[in-house]
Amino acid sequence: MFKAFLIKYGEIGIKGKNRYLFEDALVRQIEFAMAKTGTDFVVSKQQGRIYVEMNGAFDYDEVTKALGRVFGIVAICPVVITENNEWSALCQTVGDYMADTYKDLHLTFKVFARRADKSYPKKSMEIAADMGEYLLDRFPEIAVNVREPDVSLNIEIRERTFIYSITIPGPGGMPVGTNGRATLLLSGGIDSPVAGYMIAKRGVKIDAVYFHAPPYTSERAKQKVVDLAKIVAAYAGPIDLHVINFTDIQLAIYDRCPHDELTIIMRRYMMRIAEHIALASGSMGLITGESIGQVASQTMQSLRVTNAVCTLPVYRPLIGFDKNDIVEISEKIGAFETSIQPYEDCCTIFVAKHPVTKPNLGHTERSEHHLVDVIDELMEKALASDEVIHCEP
Ligand code: ATP
Ligand code: MG
Repeated sequence: MFKAFLIKYGEIGIKGKNRYLFEDALVRQIEFAMAKTGTDFVVSKQQGRIYVEMNGAFDYDEVTKALGRVFGIVAICPVVITENNEWSALCQTVGDYMADTYKDLHLTFKVFARRADKSYPKKSMEIAADMGEYLLDRFPEIAVNVREPDVSLNIEIRERTFIYSITIPGPGGMPVGTNGRATLLLSGGIDSPVAGYMIAKRGVKIDAVYFHAPPYTSERAKQKVVDLAKIVAAYAGPIDLHVINFTDIQLAIYDRCPHDELTIIMRRYMMRIAEHIALASGSMGLITGESIGQVASQTMQSLRVTNAVCTLPVYRPLIGFDKNDIVEISEKIGAFETSIQPYEDCCTIFVAKHPVTKPNLGHTERSEHHLVDVIDELMEKALASDEVIHCEP
């Protein structure tokens, strides 16, 4: 029955030139999401609105799910389109639409009419009133309520007529590509995919870095991170995942630095390398899944010591979230099942029994000094190991 989808988007802050950039980015992201459904469709901008028109048969659930992942969309309205605007034919079509859409018509409605085609013989007010009357005649159980209708029935007359009343909520946010680029430190855990999702939702294009420590971490652990990148890419668009071989740096830290500081020093090297990759790819910030106090390396003191090596801003969208809240989002975006697969990441192998919870910056810097004669070469080697995997859903 439905031939198209009207896409509603938030209008705040998108006036003038920004509006056009916003709409173009939204169209691009819709096209990307729709292409994955394998259906024949056209996205168009018409009079300040975006429509996705379907050519031929399509899977309604699959298409609404795909559109439901496009940031910037506030609501999706499935639309019935009729070519025949002659009044009695139009009444018939609208009546059939109501009967098909609402199996039980014990409900209240209000008609919202728009007449883009000014040559149409009825004015908007008349269209609304006359259509209301027609529906009341045809369906004795239905009633009008102009203040709080159960159903807002929209009828827009142009060369063709658009009929819609269903509103499916979209994810909100801003279209990816409208707010620059950032680099996500993506591990195989629960938190970092959610962090990437949240920053992408603000319109930011995402790259990712994963620190791999073969043979201490398996190929399967790496594949899990690729799988997570693909899940995030279903919302964020294609993600270039940089896989960095981190083994030699970890071994050097393990051999030379105090064991209670292993994690914090390792985190600092991850941030340094991620910043390198970020700057080389035009990123304007780093993203992590850290949350205050979640583990020893995420106390306020630890975050300060980790942060001290970065010059780029570090975005930590989960900073004030409890684990439960993070899990909820992880489940919503379909990452949770993958995140809890039991493949070790490099942090779990080189962890100390009693890591410092209140590291001191000066102290940690002195501990890192034990690496001074090898670290430049190891950093260069790690950066040279960069393997870029293009991840699409
Ligand atoms: P997550 O669930 O995201 O793995 P976590 O609770 O396990 O987080 P940590 O292991 O302390 O926390 O890591 C904190 C953050 O550091 C992660 O959210 C992620 O952004 C980054 N990180 C940790 N390990 C790696 C890794 N191997 N590769 C890339 N980033 C990592
Ligand atoms: Mg982790």
